[in-house]
Amino acid sequence: MPEKQKINLLWFGNDLRIRDNESLFNVMQEDLPFLAVYIFDETFFSSTQFGFKKIGQFRAQFLLETVSDLNNNLNQKNIPFLKKFGQTQDIFNQISEYFEIEKIFCQSEWTQEEVAFEKQITSILPYVKWVKSYSQLLLQPNFVAEKLDEIPLLFTTFRQKIEKDFKIRNEFECEQLVNRKPDLYLKIKSDDVTLKTLGFDDFEMHQSTAFPFLGGETAAMQRLNAYFFETKNLSRYKETRNGLIGEDYSSKFSAWLANGSLSAVSIFHEIKKYEAKFGNNESTYWLVFELLWRDFFKYTSMQFRDKIFLKVGILERDEEFKFAQNLINQWVNGGTNSDFINANMEEIKHTGWMSNRGRQNVASYFCKILKQEWRIGAAYFEEMLIDYDVHSNYGNWMYLAGVGNDPRSRIFHAEKQAEQYDTNHKFRNLWL
Ligand SMILES: Cc1cc2nc3c(=O)[nH]c(=O)nc-3n(C[C@H](O)[C@H](O)[C@H](O)COP(=O)(O)OP(=O)(O)OC[C@H]3O[C@@H](n4cnc5c(N)ncnc54)[C@H](O)[C@@H]3O)c2cc1C
Repeated sequence: MPEKQKINLLWFGNDLRIRDNESLFNVMQEDLPFLAVYIFDETFFSSTQFGFKKIGQFRAQFLLETVSDLNNNLNQKNIPFLKKFGQTQDIFNQISEYFEIEKIFCQSEWTQEEVAFEKQITSILPYVKWVKSYSQLLLQPNFVAEKLDEIPLLFTTFRQKIEKDFKIRNEFECEQLVNRKPDLYLKIKSDDVTLKTLGFDDFEMHQSTAFPFLGGETAAMQRLNAYFFETKNLSRYKETRNGLIGEDYSSKFSAWLANGSLSAVSIFHEIKKYEAKFGNNESTYWLVFELLWRDFFKYTSMQFRDKIFLKVGILERDEEFKFAQNLINQWVNGGTNSDFINANMEEIKHTGWMSNRGRQNVASYFCKILKQEWRIGAAYFEEMLIDYDVHSNYGNWMYLAGVGNDPRSRIFHAEKQAEQYDTNHKFRNLWL
């Protein structure tokens, strides 16, 4: 039997980009040739929780666009790329039939499903070396560890400690790198993965969506340039971020951030460039403030691990929830007693998008008015949201259910909120 070629593997997960990709940067410094791989793991497309799929059509479509863009960008860099659909462990088995894998470069993950994949791979490749990055975060773990012995429950405490001597790393300069070691004989073929493969029919996006964008880092950078430099919307972010209609009220970076086609560190440095050119104000600061919320939920889940998936949450508080399928159905289908809630639920059903204001209201309504268990609402969001991110979704839901980062029991009054944020009924008229 011929000797297998020794290679490294660049295993893409939620870091589907070239710019500021630590794993890509690191694997390109090695002497061995490497293969880049992305796996559409079929369990994400077949399994359900509380009757909801783990990934719905909107995120599936966005992911396909993202991987296609990545494929093009890797091609330009001479990097061999394998795109597969199947079980992660089967694909790793297949690759290791042809190659001896020395190191796997990937993004560090700590939530249960991602950790389970790593365990499966380790059982196939017990001697492989793992080289992990933390490039989904704005703040580096060693910087946070210097500032805090543990992650506090309250965001304000976290932020105030972090903002003293605030340090953000430089970007990993990957864009100029070109692969000089592509001498890799690939006997395995990429799969042609389509919406059909993932279990969906083709669909047209609703014309009223506030998120009419494509997946992939090319579209992400176009959006960033438009929101910052072309329209200067960044300078109005704080006053407009609670809007409900259209492209411009907030950055819409979340979907690209969630699958890693845009890095929070790149956004930070672009904000600094913008400030140098057009000046800083409360709004330019506020976008960093919101990115800190994102990190806060990531660090919270890093500390509390799988507790974020428990009904009692990280507070271990046994809130009383009642189970009523008819109320859940009414909420999902926009048939509650509140027209503001219904309009938001129609929006997510038809577009996979909802504003932050909408999300806070519908989640609060679900937990506090309908008194349904928060994890069911979170599971529905997980299926529907284009920008689903495990840490932000479960963190925000726990928070609003009263079992998360805020020990006070908050409640949003949908009618008052509608009066304030949808005074002239424009948003409700759009969706109802
Ligand atoms: C119940 C509920 C569920 C949510 N689920 C998700 C989710 O699955 N994925 C997700 O990315 N966000 C989630 N959010 C947070 C927030 O609603 C979205 O990040 C935001 O609406 C995305 O729009 P944007 O990119 O235009 O935000 P902007 O206002 O432009 O903010 C910029 C970035 O800051 C971060 N950010 C802003 N607000 C929050 C927040 N409350 N928590 C964490 N990060 C924040 C996001 O990365 C966002 O892209 C959820 C919020 C609630 C209340």
